[in-house]
Amino acid sequence: MEVKHPEIPILYFVIPCYNEQEALPVTAQKLRSKMQNLIANHQISENSHVVFINDGSKDKTWNQIELLHEENRLFRGIKLSRNYGHQNALLAGLMTVQQECDVVISMDADLQDDIHAVDAMLEKYQQGCEIVYGIRSDRETDTAFKRITAQSYYKLMNAIGVELVYNHADYRLMSQRVLQELSGYEEVNLFLRGLVPMLGFQTGKVYYSRASRLQGESKYPLKKMLHFAFEGITSLSVKPIRMITSLGIAIFLISLFMLVYILVRHFQGYTVTGWTFLAVSVWGIGGLQLLGIGIVGEYIGKIYLETKHRPRYHLELYLK
Ligand code: UDP
Ligand code: MG
Repeated sequence: MEVKHPEIPILYFVIPCYNEQEALPVTAQKLRSKMQNLIANHQISENSHVVFINDGSKDKTWNQIELLHEENRLFRGIKLSRNYGHQNALLAGLMTVQQECDVVISMDADLQDDIHAVDAMLEKYQQGCEIVYGIRSDRETDTAFKRITAQSYYKLMNAIGVELVYNHADYRLMSQRVLQELSGYEEVNLFLRGLVPMLGFQTGKVYYSRASRLQGESKYPLKKMLHFAFEGITSLSVKPIRMITSLGIAIFLISLFMLVYILVRHFQGYTVTGWTFLAVSVWGIGGLQLLGIGIVGEYIGKIYLETKHRPRYHLELYLK
């Protein structure tokens, strides 16, 4: 028999904040009334909370979190010792609260993601989903540049064998069960939206349209975004190494053809003395070198994956 989820679950919102002093008051206000509604409708337990994670902000973010906590115990705060970046801050929040709640929803402090999608998420949870992805129904609030780069990125990730949920970022619901499984991933190189689909379990999708940021500015400038994109590739795939191996094999094969071609030219007398030897050497040695690097890389890739100590499987049920 399927394990049933609690009818009135304890819900925690987990919200990483980095220099969000402009956004926080508005965000807190909106979340408070949303929570009060959900509690009044018996959709969530009155022991539910909003947890802000201060990711080493340089502004008044932490003071505001403290004040919110003083004012209303609905709000809780976690203070990280310095700035660790969005993904780490989010993970810190998830892992800290996992024993206290039945279900977690992670979202950004700027509330660009529609909080009213929470109702649909909870509904899916009640239907048995362990993970519910918040998915943007459009990208109208994005610049053309962001739209094109994002789309190409999904295609690239797909091509190298990484399963990503299209147009989903870090707005998602996860059950306590799933958080526990997630805690088995001990990697430092963290790309949550790539890890979560690896967990399996029953999942659902909820669509919403994303607003633009109202207060403060984006904490993801181009440089951080590129870094994050690269992190996604290297933390989930060793395909780039394999490409070097393939390239090495290809070039070495070409060198064999070149050898024949060059010998033919040589005996036809079209060549300058010494050219044959040089041309064949360049192709042959180049190919062999790439192949060699690729093979070494294969082993490094294996070592890399081993060092992550990822769980090898997740049990869903044990009938006994
Ligand atoms: N954030 C964080 N640490 C950082 C950078 C960002 O905790 O080093 C948080 C930020 O406060 C926000 C979320 O990550 O809650 C997403 O950032 P933002 O909304 O600026 O990203 P964008 O929507 O522009 O992609
Ligand atoms: Mg944002």
